[in-house]
This record gives sequence, structure tokens and C-alpha cells, in this order.
Amino acid sequence: MKAKWRDKDEFKEHVRSWAAKLDVKIRLLTVRPMKTKWASCSTDGRLTFNSQLLDMDSEVADYVIVHELLHFSIPNHGKLWKSLMKAHLGDYEAMEQMLKSQK
Ligand SMILES: [Zn+2]
Repeated sequence: MKAKWRDKDEFKEHVRSWAAKLDVKIRLLTVRPMKTKWASCSTDGRLTFNSQLLDMDSEVADYVIVHELLHFSIPNHGKLWKSLMKAHLGDYEAMEQMLKSQK
């Protein structure tokens, strides 16, 4: 497992590099405590991540980051979304299970 995040800024920088890779324009990026979700996004370019992710392994954060960024172009979890998740993250389903067991 890779090291965890140093701080919010490092995390945000990582989000921005994924966004560039996936060709997503982020207008507002926020990291804050969230009660029921790991992240949320809106089609106008606002992206919010649960600050709890800062305490988790970077593979898990990658899962949440790519998950949300793909929703900018694909609003569901259909075939296309799944195949892109796999292409970028490999075995993303393992991460999904792990997150489910934590909340
Ligand atoms: Zn989703």
C-alpha cells in the first residue's frame, strides 16, 4: 500500500492531475467532512470530497476521485462507466467493497 496524504493540498493536486488526464474541467474543488458520502459532484464543475479520504490509502482515494470525475461525462454506473473505471484503475471493485464496509 502506498503512503497516505500529507495534507489537503496534496490531495487536491492529485485530483487535478486526474482531472487533466480525464479531460474534466473542475471549477470548484472542496475537501471537507461529509456525513454520508465519500464525494459528490455537480455537472457545473463543482467537486467535493470527504476529508476522511485523507486518512485512507491512495488507492482508495483514486477510486473515489476517478469515480466522481467519470460522472462528469457519464451520469450513471453503466457499462461505459465500468469499462473506464477498469481501464484507469484495474480491479476497482475491490476498492468499492472496501469503502462499503467502512460506511
Ligand atoms: Zn457514482
